Amino acid sequence: MISNFGLDDRHVAHRERVRKFCDEQIRPVVDDYEERGEFPLDVVDELGEAGLYGINVPEEYGGAGLDFRSFVVTVEELARVWKIPAGVVSLSCSLFANTIEKYGTDWQREEWLRGLFTDNGVAAISLTEPQAGSDASAIETTATRDGDEYVIDGHKVWTSHGAVADIVLVVARTGDDGTHDDVSIIAVPEPHDRDGFEIVRDIPCMEGDAVVESEIAYDGLRVPTDYLLGEEGQGFRYIMEALDIGRIGAAAQAVGISQGAFDECISFADEREAFGRSIRQFQGVSFKLADMQMGIDASRLLTYRAASALDRGADRVTQPAAMAKTFASDTAMDVTTEAVQIHGSRGYSRDYPLERYMREAKGIQIYEGTNEVNRHVIAKNLYE
Ligand SMILES: Cc1cc2nc3c(=O)[nH]c(=O)nc-3n(C[C@H](O)[C@H](O)[C@H](O)COP(=O)(O)OP(=O)(O)OC[C@H]3O[C@@H](n4cnc5c(N)ncnc54)[C@H](O)[C@@H]3O)c2cc1C
Repeated sequence: MISNFGLDDRHVAHRERVRKFCDEQIRPVVDDYEERGEFPLDVVDELGEAGLYGINVPEEYGGAGLDFRSFVVTVEELARVWKIPAGVVSLSCSLFANTIEKYGTDWQREEWLRGLFTDNGVAAISLTEPQAGSDASAIETTATRDGDEYVIDGHKVWTSHGAVADIVLVVARTGDDGTHDDVSIIAVPEPHDRDGFEIVRDIPCMEGDAVVESEIAYDGLRVPTDYLLGEEGQGFRYIMEALDIGRIGAAAQAVGISQGAFDECISFADEREAFGRSIRQFQGVSFKLADMQMGIDASRLLTYRAASALDRGADRVTQPAAMAKTFASDTAMDVTTEAVQIHGSRGYSRDYPLERYMREAKGIQIYEGTNEVNRHVIAKNLYE
């Protein structure tokens, strides 16, 4: 039995640490937060206090300074118990941290990267608009220069964590030629303290009420021009690069959800009896378990492969990241659907976590590029 999947002893020790934290600090409180519909800011704080937040962020910026395999192991272990904190770590350490680390100035890294991971803050990325989802180049939000300020106007949807964010990276047009080349990324720290930033609503969604998916109106919001990230007109390229890393985080979320659902099935199929024997003795059940195990192992291998490429210094990981995200999230959807089935009526009830895992898995087939769009990416790369 392969157990380490290319991880070394340090990763295995790290996994044990995160697992212990999840079992002791997160597992006992999940149902409570979910029932109250409360976003777990306290859990994010506890993760930070335990040194488990800015996993791959350099220590000088308040992170743990570990590698990308440690990042995926962390996200995976969190999602095995609850996806919301896994999503926070995933987004903050990938889309947010990598973009600031790579394209920010020294001042921006010190202020925003160090600020976020020292204070255990929450980051958000505001890209998607009602008319611009898969086709991100159709965004209409503008950031217009006015002296030494940008004035941001537009309407964004599905900004994860927007309503609780300490900083939002807004993707907007700084020119008017309507192409990729006039898209830029502008940081908006402390958005809630600024005029022109309005949370229109929390989008009610399949995952439940504890998760925060915000619809946001930017109406004449002003920030200094030195809140621009990198160069004007390069934002589309930056966000596509960031999505590569984000997809590895999304893949790790999917692996964790699959594993969490599978763990429940293994014990349930052994203990639950029907027709005088445990249900795992029926081939109809045991073949499902075998398929689940194969899918999870393959997802994990693809995810670790993509993270290893980053650890070896690869500049772009578009292909392995898209493959890992797509395969792992499709697998998570299959695994969680079958996990509900194996549990029968119990799987359908909220007394067990299976229906939650199934709802959590569905989102990952949609965000960080839908799996259809990711298949386009994979197919295009076959000829490049
Ligand atoms: C839980 C969740 C969290 C999210 N978090 C964020 C976030 O933090 N920040 C942010 O900016 N956005 C976020 N999003 C938005 C997400 O990125 C978009 O939903 C996604 O890009 C798809 O866009 P859309 O929903 O407009 O669907 P559409 O683009 O309208 O797609 C509709 C359908 O058409 C298919 N389709 C579209 N184009 C093609 C094509 N060329 N070939 C084949 N099929 C195609 C899609 O795959 C999909 O099945 C989040 C979404 C969800 C569900």
